[in-house]
Amino acid sequence: MAATAPETTAAGSAGWLDSFLEGWRPGTGESREVREPATGRPLLTVPLATTDDVARAAAAAAAAQPAWAATGYADRAAILRRAAEIYEAHRPEFGSWTQRETGAHRSKMHHEQNFTTQEILNAATLPSQPYGSLVPTVQPERLSMVRRIPVGVVGAITPWNSPSVLGMRVVAPALALGNAVVLKPDPQTPVCGGAMFESVFREAGLPDGLLHVVLGGAEVGEAIVTDPNVNVVSFTGSTAAGRRVGELAGRLLRKVSLELGGNNALIVLDDADLDAAASAGAYASFQFQGQVCFATGRHIVHRSVAPAYVDALVEKATRLRLGDPFREDVDLGPIVNERQLARVDGIVRRSVDGGARLAAGGTHDGLFYRPTVLADVTRELPAWTDEIFGPVAPVVVFDTDEEALALANDTEYGLAGGVYSGSISRGLALAQRIRAGMVHVNDQTVNDEAVIPFGGMGASGNGSRFGGAANWDEFSQWQWVTVRDVPKSFPFPY
Ligand code: NAD
Repeated sequence: MAATAPETTAAGSAGWLDSFLEGWRPGTGESREVREPATGRPLLTVPLATTDDVARAAAAAAAAQPAWAATGYADRAAILRRAAEIYEAHRPEFGSWTQRETGAHRSKMHHEQNFTTQEILNAATLPSQPYGSLVPTVQPERLSMVRRIPVGVVGAITPWNSPSVLGMRVVAPALALGNAVVLKPDPQTPVCGGAMFESVFREAGLPDGLLHVVLGGAEVGEAIVTDPNVNVVSFTGSTAAGRRVGELAGRLLRKVSLELGGNNALIVLDDADLDAAASAGAYASFQFQGQVCFATGRHIVHRSVAPAYVDALVEKATRLRLGDPFREDVDLGPIVNERQLARVDGIVRRSVDGGARLAAGGTHDGLFYRPTVLADVTRELPAWTDEIFGPVAPVVVFDTDEEALALANDTEYGLAGGVYSGSISRGLALAQRIRAGMVHVNDQTVNDEAVIPFGGMGASGNGSRFGGAANWDEFSQWQWVTVRDVPKSFPFPY
């Protein structure tokens, strides 16, 4: 495979990933050229998978999984810990690819890398945890126990925006709990969403057959969802694609985890620390060009502080520097592609046509979209109703706390929310009534940790969660086992 080497690599690790990529063939289908969003330059050419490749990968995974499930807990944990060490050792190479494949700023890239390591280390603790319990029984002469067993083969489908961590939050716990994985990253991020996993786990000593990366789009994804050897599907992506995945899996009675889009609310009360709130609001809407599922998509601000809040957002939006974050000292990079750019721009234009006031931004130079502040937004405008997935901050005003809450819950989504207030009890009272899977008082919506159950309500998912104790729910299943010393006889026929 032709790959462009990263322009910077750390001494001692240079070439390790390049050597892996030389021989990497994640499919037998047609080749696809991947371009850097920031420059349009080709990054690598990589063969996509066919649906036959998916079938082969899933069959190999199913064949390898039982022996892995029977492997001692200490050996499984050791491979995961080793994977974390290898990932850390090659961070500079993976970091270069992450920035170039996604257009991420260094700080976002580092955050993703820290988090990826945490996902592996957290998963490494799972094999040594208790995996069941003895339960009471109405027949005390028998032993009755419930235990968690692997689900078998996990099909993982991930998006391009945080490919390492969104893949690792599935791959690491699924492997740790004795499963095999077929992983399909978005074709925009074949290296940090795909090759990284194979290279790291191979070097860590993961037995053959347990982890397969297949590259491709919707057709390859659907082949994973419907493959007879795949037992559980873990999908992260848009709500539209998630609905389709859910329909396919539902028809096959296959368990599916859906982690989908968001349109997250940040409430700013009249007693809030306004500087802190505006810095949080700007960060949560603009960083990584707003291409984050739990970015703040709606700023709900008390009327008395709204003018100052909008001014502060505008000041920050105007100061942010745009450019190639891999090579230049800038704050924001490009939107990932033309299609997404057109979508962001379309939402802004239609909202301004509908009456929103363009307080900042609204223009772009190629894929570089100026951070945009929309004031006087109303509830029928697309900037309010739609997930924008771009660097846009729509602001709506309210008068009472109840009105703020109604506005926050005025969405089909329910991923994350935040409340800024000088009163913790007032902030908490509101935050707890926001219909979202994750809420924060005096913090913004872009928040995650490997040990918490991450996920959303409503159109943001189907109730599944990633992380911490929730990993047991996602990647293992209950089995009830009873044992008797004396075989039981039945007086039958009666
Ligand atoms: P997308 O749904 O277009 O693609 C996501 C993945 O699904 C890709 O790998 C894609 O190839 C695959 N895919 C697309 N159609 C499919 C189908 N019919 N069957 C199987 N696979 C299919 O999403 P995107 O636009 O690339 O990513 C952005 C979206 O992802 C946003 O809506 C964002 O909010 C969401 N997201 C959610 C989370 C979360 O944890 N809730 C995290 C990151 C991103």
